[in-house]
Amino acid sequence: MTRVDVVVIGGGIVGLMTAWFLAREGTRVVLLEAGDLGAQASGANAGSLHLQIQYPEFVNYGEGWARAYAPTLRFLQQSIAMWQALGAEVDEDLDVKLGGGIVVATEPSQMRLIEAKAKVESSVGVTTEILDRDGLRAIAPYLSDDAIGGGFCPGEGKANPLRATPAIARAAVAAGAILYSETPVTGLSGKAGAFEVMTPRGGFHAEKIINTAGAKAAEIAAMLGVQIDLGGFPLQVTVTEPIAPLIPHLIYSAAGKLSLKQAANGGCIIGGGWAADVRGHGGLATNPVNFAGNMAMAAGVVPRLAQARTIRSWTAWVNGTPDWRPIIGEARGVPGFYLALFPWVGFTAGPMTARVIADLVMGHSPAMNMTGISVLAD
Ligand SMILES: Cc1cc2nc3c(=O)[nH]c(=O)nc-3n(C[C@H](O)[C@H](O)[C@H](O)COP(=O)(O)OP(=O)(O)OC[C@H]3O[C@@H](n4cnc5c(N)ncnc54)[C@H](O)[C@@H]3O)c2cc1C
Repeated sequence: MTRVDVVVIGGGIVGLMTAWFLAREGTRVVLLEAGDLGAQASGANAGSLHLQIQYPEFVNYGEGWARAYAPTLRFLQQSIAMWQALGAEVDEDLDVKLGGGIVVATEPSQMRLIEAKAKVESSVGVTTEILDRDGLRAIAPYLSDDAIGGGFCPGEGKANPLRATPAIARAAVAAGAILYSETPVTGLSGKAGAFEVMTPRGGFHAEKIINTAGAKAAEIAAMLGVQIDLGGFPLQVTVTEPIAPLIPHLIYSAAGKLSLKQAANGGCIIGGGWAADVRGHGGLATNPVNFAGNMAMAAGVVPRLAQARTIRSWTAWVNGTPDWRPIIGEARGVPGFYLALFPWVGFTAGPMTARVIADLVMGHSPAMNMTGISVLAD
């Protein structure tokens, strides 16, 4: 049985970055990934760097929820700062651009909600500027004439998921981490200092274990008797053919579910939380009705997109928690077993999630105080 200091379970952005941080700071670490590295949510997401509170959740869950969630925005802000430095650290152009994000309103009632949301955001130091029709036209002339105003959050942007995880994996290996793909964890036993991790490749002996298994994290946690309120939700995203540079912002709509941005190659990436179909054995397929709804929503906000052909839709499971709060820290009741799970916007939050969990595992004080952020710090 191979002996290491730490086993990381899951080779998404959180697992890979955690393995990299641990290895470069002298920890013997093995990462075990069931399939290919970065092939699940971390490689299949829409690449938005989200900072503001998501408008649909603000409407659905209300201001009380938003105030409880607001400290998490500081975490996202710090993680986006890490994204800005990451390309240079992993020696890869990750297409990181912070052009700002706009929630576009078409009704006065939506403007009032955007203003209320901006107040909550400003309470934790996140700026959202309220734009009237002229202000919106001035920065985003490509929007539909139906738009009457919006909320502009300058700290938002995008990165390229297809480039990020391979580059981070290379950095982890260069730092001395051992990464095994096609190695699903099938069982866990033992206790801090003497965990056993079972895989078809054989067993691993670890002093500590970190669960970064994304949408499957609850199954991994249950192997050590730990219950967490986290599930997997099937999503789809679509990209258009490349068009001339048009959209420098991350665009959302207050009229429905939409996230929209233009990638460096000109393709427009359209998503926003539309559900995919689940087929046998958990396989996913694009839901055609949701595809049509998502495209209509995009073309309603940016009319030029009605003429752009879509070239690819894809699907993946996202890790979600009911209250949107992350689960980051040592599991209650199982010392030495750590959870590093940031739901819904975990691509944005990946770098800081990895930094904090690596700090905790190494016994350092974490890069961020997690009180009010992680449910494990309440
Ligand atoms: C379609 C879609 C669009 C999204 N868009 C955005 C966005 O624009 N911006 C944003 O911030 N976030 C977005 N997200 C969310 C974001 O992608 C995820 O929250 C984030 O990638 C989670 O990273 P992770 O490393 O925790 O998990 P994952 O990337 O899911 O990695 C977990 C890994 O664990 C592995 N694993 C599972 N079980 C086992 C096992 N038994 N043994 C070993 N390994 C195992 C899996 O194979 C997987 O590779 C989106 C998600 C989806 C699905």
